[in-house]
Amino acid sequence: MAQILDGKAHADRMLEVVRTSVEARISAGLRAPCLAVVLVGENPASQVYVKNKVAACIRTGIRSLERFLPETTSSSTLLATILQLNEAPDVDGILVQLPLPKPLDAKAIVQRIDPAKDVDGLHPLNQGLLFQGQKGLRPCTPNAVMNMLKAYGVVMQGKRAVVLGRSEIVGKPMALMLLEEQATVTIAHSRTLDLPALCREADILVAAMGQPGLVEGSWIKPGAVVVDVGINRVEKLGLGERIFAKDPKKLETLKAKGSVLCGDVRYGEAFEVAGAITPVPGGVGPLTIAGLLMNTLQACEARG
Ligand code: NAD
Repeated sequence: MAQILDGKAHADRMLEVVRTSVEARISAGLRAPCLAVVLVGENPASQVYVKNKVAACIRTGIRSLERFLPETTSSSTLLATILQLNEAPDVDGILVQLPLPKPLDAKAIVQRIDPAKDVDGLHPLNQGLLFQGQKGLRPCTPNAVMNMLKAYGVVMQGKRAVVLGRSEIVGKPMALMLLEEQATVTIAHSRTLDLPALCREADILVAAMGQPGLVEGSWIKPGAVVVDVGINRVEKLGLGERIFAKDPKKLETLKAKGSVLCGDVRYGEAFEVAGAITPVPGGVGPLTIAGLLMNTLQACEARG
């Protein structure tokens, strides 16, 4: 039976740290940090994320600024918005909600954010600082996962860590952060051969692929720490019956509601083998916003 790594509870603790720090700034006569979120178009998932971010800002006392732009926004209009936020002295963090509608080029846009305000940690300067193991703004999800693993006392030094997924927002920075903590790290991806054998070597397994229930219980080394970053909506009953064989509640929800959220790991199967595991939902999801507000506070304090 695995220990549950409660991301929701840890995110609450991180948000409380942010709230008291903001309160202390205000008591000292300083202004509250400010996070600007730019949302282009009407992607429903992105709208939910932005709503949750605004709610977390309110909870911690961080000032929130939203810029909603239409789906048809041109690259030059979006850049003008970003340049204006770069110049604004009272804006500390700028987050451009991804994915951007086509044909906008996310990489080109992110490169124009002032690196000191790049709270998503995606600007090449911040990526370079992470690469060098220096202080900078780091991608929120892996940064908050590391924060939680440390809080739970997970030993990383000398351990074998396998990261499934090589995205710039999760997989690659996660691998660099585990390396920084002296783990021996392997990054796997869609072209990796024999994923099950590789996973079985992992003392720490991080799944960030967006593949519902791909990781089976039999792939997990007994006692391993399993971090499931994947967030997937399953609607097909056939798939659900396969991946939720040991997760009857998920299967019930799928049958009753027509869809259910799950991670990349078959939770019910993994729970029996792993030493510790994050659930989905309630695991990594809530940590990301907490990480974002931590970064906003860090950016504000660094800007002075
Ligand atoms: P992405 O699509 O950018 O990258 C997916 C990665 O997984 C790629 O590197 C790909 O090579 C790898 N991959 C895909 N299929 C694979 C397979 N069959 N075997 C091995 N590797 C495979 O995704 P992302 O943005 O990194 O997100 C990954 C997942 O994490 C998604 O489900 C996303 O919703 C979720 N996510 C969650 C949070 C959170 O807050 N919990 C934050 C970011 C992303």
